Amino acid sequence: MSKLTFGAGIWHFATYLDRYATDGYGPAKTLIEMIDLAGQVRDLSVVDINAPWSPDISVDEVEVALKRNNLSVIGITPEIYTREFSKGAFTNPDAGVRRRANEMCNQAADLVRRFGASYVKLWPGQDGWDYPFQADYKQIWRYSVEGIGELASQNPDLKFVIEYKPREPRVHMSYSSVARTLLGIEAMGLPNVGILLDFGHALFGGESPADSAQLAIDHGRLFGMDVNDNLRSWDDDMVAGTVHPIELFEFFYTLRKNKWEGVWQLDQFPFRENCLEAADMAIDFLKHIDGALDRLDWDALQAAQDRQDAMGAQKIARQALFGF
Ligand code: FE
Ligand code: FE
Repeated sequence: MSKLTFGAGIWHFATYLDRYATDGYGPAKTLIEMIDLAGQVRDLSVVDINAPWSPDISVDEVEVALKRNNLSVIGITPEIYTREFSKGAFTNPDAGVRRRANEMCNQAADLVRRFGASYVKLWPGQDGWDYPFQADYKQIWRYSVEGIGELASQNPDLKFVIEYKPREPRVHMSYSSVARTLLGIEAMGLPNVGILLDFGHALFGGESPADSAQLAIDHGRLFGMDVNDNLRSWDDDMVAGTVHPIELFEFFYTLRKNKWEGVWQLDQFPFRENCLEAADMAIDFLKHIDGALDRLDWDALQAAQDRQDAMGAQKIARQALFGF
């Protein structure tokens, strides 16, 4: 078994509101409390942290909390999707709001340097449009590409990853698929912008996540990934492996086939579940997948794929993953 690094978005340990439980699914937690919870997950060693966080918590306090929990930071996610950005961050019609998004991302870049993290994660969830005729598509796409291109040019020493998703909260997100995101990144023409491939977002978008990973790898742009699960019609962010185990296995098979190395990261929202149990369950399944990749008959699988033999390939994959 290879030595894996497991990570999680710190929001895994938050409590959530939605448009029905407007009182939240539990009492609110501070960032420090979330870090202390993350520290209780077996095998978790890195976290992605949203910024800015509450002003009554200093960067030093966060650093101390991380240290006592043996955690390091993989990425900082600037919150460019809150009320101020309800009409978009990089694509906002107001140049002042677009500037503010740029400033917030630059502040996130400073935190990445401070924590020795790997990247700024951009999730422009409000960038896009809702209604027919609302948007000048050429303009929206230009804003999307130029906004991130500018940011990456301002910080050539850092990596920026774009996490695409079809929709939510915006009805149509600008960076909605692996192909559009790659097109945007190619148009920027910069070495330090890549994709963070969220397995669930690819599923939700009707993609085969393993194929999305292969495409991003072939363009040299797979900078990060995270996993979860869903029922394919929404970004449910359920526990990884609970709904689509065979596709998750194919996703990691593709990563290993390409010798891709990086953190196996959870992006789950355990609304009604115990967050520690949900993280441990997912990581246990990911370890099982890693073991299954060791057991897999790689040559036989390749031969089956060369024949495009669906049942033959399924039998080999199933044997490795499920043991029958
Ligand atoms: Fe994600
Ligand atoms: Fe998501």
